[in-house]
Amino acid sequence: MRKAARSGVGCPNGECEQHGRHDAGNVVLHGFSKVKGGRRRRYRCTSCSKTFGATTGTPYKRLQYSKSRFDRVAALSVEGVNKSAIARLEGLSWNTVARWLELAAALARRFNAKHLRGHELIELQLDEMNTFLQSRKQQTWVFASIDVWSRVWPATLVGARTSRNTGRFVRSIADTSHGGGTPLITTDGFKFYAPTIRHVFGVGCVLAQVIKKIKRNRVVRVGTKLIVGTEWRLSDALRESEDSTKLNTAFIERLNLTIRQGCAYLRRRSPCHARRKQTLEDHLELFRTVYNFVRPHSALRFGKVTRTPAMQAGLAQKRFNFRDIFTARYAAARFAIVRFRTVAYHEEPERVRCAA
Ligand SMILES: [Zn+2]
Repeated sequence: MRKAARSGVGCPNGECEQHGRHDAGNVVLHGFSKVKGGRRRRYRCTSCSKTFGATTGTPYKRLQYSKSRFDRVAALSVEGVNKSAIARLEGLSWNTVARWLELAAALARRFNAKHLRGHELIELQLDEMNTFLQSRKQQTWVFASIDVWSRVWPATLVGARTSRNTGRFVRSIADTSHGGGTPLITTDGFKFYAPTIRHVFGVGCVLAQVIKKIKRNRVVRVGTKLIVGTEWRLSDALRESEDSTKLNTAFIERLNLTIRQGCAYLRRRSPCHARRKQTLEDHLELFRTVYNFVRPHSALRFGKVTRTPAMQAGLAQKRFNFRDIFTARYAAARFAIVRFRTVAYHEEPERVRCAA
């Protein structure tokens, strides 16, 4: 009789019947493998007879550096340190940093998709901020959203300010909610929000616009406009709100600032914009996971405990760390594909020119 593995070890084989189950008793100990620093435990699944190590299906498999180093690169990146600076600080090559961050983003994306759903949207604020791709050659926008009550950042999108992108963005916010309740939504005066929100959230929601008149870089007047819903429903929503006493977009503007601080590509007057849209999207996905699940939010302090937005929204019981995000076992199924795809180049690969 083989000795059963400690609980929490599941079979990483995506085609196995027991995949994704952690306490089914199908995983047994299977000797050790030799590595540079000593030996590592191996396991065997009795259901599919495959053997695997403790790091199979995680980004730490066959990593030539320590796990904490991988985590530290991700941590530095979400503090707004750019890839070249991380490479210098950690003594790694630029390509290694880029590859690790791409992997980290893929896992963060999966973590978000799995954990960031089924919460209640109460008071939403939406906004977009402007940035550039390819060293200021191409202007683009980062759509961001916040559920004010829990401070959760439910969705984000990078792209032009078109009706189609606005639709995709608003739908992705609605997808994270549990479907019940009708939120109070505040946006700026951007024209595509009203038809899209009416279509996605229905006429049951309350939608208001906060329009700022700016003269010589200063706000001279703030006007509000009710688009969907009635005055009494708006005042009801504001009375129930714990954070807002009048219509505002202060919370999303504060989040925009946090995003700019946590992303080297979005710094103001920065000479280093993302080359590709995908790179910016990847970084925002990693940063969103950290913002929602890892970093305690100073506005969510309750006595000695400072909660993360996900804890406040009831999506998590504890504060997660990078290791939790990167080793979440359900990520194993398609991990091989992610690993295969991730080839980062400092430069775009040159096209091969044929000699005439
Ligand atoms: Zn198996």
